[in-house]
Amino acid sequence: MSHLVVGLSGGIGSGKTTVSDLFATHGVDIIDADVIARQVVEPGTPALEAIVAKFGQQVLNQEGELNRSQLRQLVFSEPSVKDWLNQLLHPLIRQQMHSQTQAAQSSYCILSVPLLVESKLNTLVDRVLIVDVSEATQLKRTVLRDKSNVEQISAIMSAQATRAERLALADDVIQNEGDASDLIKKVAQLHQQYLRLAANRNV
Ligand code: ADP
Repeated sequence: MSHLVVGLSGGIGSGKTTVSDLFATHGVDIIDADVIARQVVEPGTPALEAIVAKFGQQVLNQEGELNRSQLRQLVFSEPSVKDWLNQLLHPLIRQQMHSQTQAAQSSYCILSVPLLVESKLNTLVDRVLIVDVSEATQLKRTVLRDKSNVEQISAIMSAQATRAERLALADDVIQNEGDASDLIKKVAQLHQQYLRLAANRNV
């Protein structure tokens, strides 16, 4: 069982995925909020059944999976649908985050939550690690990665927490303006620090 849960977050394109992949190379268990958000509505789950009971078969695709673009349409045409969905899904997602962090086997684990600050999920973790870059770098790297345009990415960025809001909650910060080898070094250093912290909590 892990004795320390580190919450990893950062804005779109800051490098969260790259950083969590690097922690994974050290054998650290990674729990990914985006994966959990999909798991709680997999076919056969009570949440998917509740969604179908409310909106009908139209929210399923041919494979019987949740049709996300159809659901987005419903939310767009009726904003109260969003509250209903959040009330249904957020407790399930929190519960899963809790049980998966409890079940983690590495000495500490990482809970990667893109919207950690926005969803106030910092209460679920022992420490908050923020990957930080300038807005210009965020924009440049995301446009390159997603092959999307500046306007689309800027709109996503302005709907997210600000850099200052994130940094205000951080216990640790990885500045990711450097190159890949710089990032590898920073993650290795933090890994050693977290191993020490986890060992101290263990006694
Ligand atoms: P997030 O998961 O926070 O959205 P990613 O880890 O996907 O961010 O990183 C965004 C993009 O920037 C990816 O294409 C990634 O390969 C690239 N990237 C991450 N860190 C660096 C870096 N230090 N230098 C150059 N490119 C980077």
